[in-house]
Amino acid sequence: MSDCIFCKIVDKKLPSTPVAENQHAIAFRDLHPGAPTHILVVPRKHVVNLNDAREEDAAELGHLLLLARDVAKAEGLAEKGYRIAINNGAGVGQSVFHLHLHVLGGRAMSWPPG
Ligand code: 5GP
Ligand code: ZN
Repeated sequence: MSDCIFCKIVDKKLPSTPVAENQHAIAFRDLHPGAPTHILVVPRKHVVNLNDAREEDAAELGHLLLLARDVAKAEGLAEKGYRIAINNGAGVGQSVFHLHLHVLGGRAMSWPPG
């Protein structure tokens, strides 16, 4: 997707602050962090959100969670706890329409989120 900012970050055509990457996904710091640790885990493949995911994406979706787990551990959050969030649709706050996990931690968080 030529006009997708996360595709551009995946392709290194836009800068980011990367924290991890593998053949499936890239993880980089959110430009406007909502917590002391706020990292985005983004599949290399352009998928709009979970509504756009297909059965054949099952393994890629699993790899996203595993990279998020590794990133949280590297940030020292494995024991303290962290939250993984996916916004699916503008109505709940999705603003970049390329699937991504938010990895949030480093402060207390209420549940359910506002
Ligand atoms: P969404 O609202 O779609 O769930 O999350 C999009 C996230 O991407 C937001 O938290 C926003 O701060 C972040 N973001 C938007 N543009 C950029 C960018 O160019 N670079 C980085 N690192 N984060 C971005
Ligand atoms: Zn994209």
